[in-house]
Amino acid sequence: MNFKEKIRVVMDFPEPGIRFKDITTLLKDGEAFQAAINQLAASFKDQQIDLVVGPEARGFAVGAPVAYALEAGFIPVRKPGKLPAETIRHQYSLEYGHDALEVHKDAILPGQRVLIVDDLLATGGTTLATIALIEELGGEVAGIAFMIELSYLQGRERLAGYNVVSLVSY
Ligand code: IMP
Repeated sequence: MNFKEKIRVVMDFPEPGIRFKDITTLLKDGEAFQAAINQLAASFKDQQIDLVVGPEARGFAVGAPVAYALEAGFIPVRKPGKLPAETIRHQYSLEYGHDALEVHKDAILPGQRVLIVDDLLATGGTTLATIALIEELGGEVAGIAFMIELSYLQGRERLAGYNVVSLVSY
């Protein structure tokens, strides 16, 4: 399956100069969606994954079906104030200012094998924050899977030491 031809590239979104990779065109194509999920799941089927962690919001759309395919649980990672029970938070720097992500304190047990799934790897900042949350709870990051990797931003280099898989690279 040529996934690249299913992904729409939108010029100047959300700001001038950005070529936004839009996966909604892939997700609406049932055959392409299933093939993409199956291919991501296949890379980790022998890895005894207990949990898939997906950062909001597109990490839910990609991560939950990968969890289902692996018979693993799904854990949402969210922006502050969205999760109802007790959480831990990790703050990280953006180009301008800060952002933070949260996960439920009881979401992951020490030693559980966790796969992180998101739609796209850019600089790796979101993934590094997600790793920090998982490892703070004692989880083991067994792999990281993306539909898309923007290789010119060198996110993969920032994730050195982890098993990183992507379907499509720009
Ligand atoms: P990072 O933290 O710099 O790796 O950015 C990754 C996050 O930014 C992911 O959660 C993506 O959803 C989002 N993102 C950045 N660029 C794009 C894009 O071109 N298309 C879709 N999402 C993007």
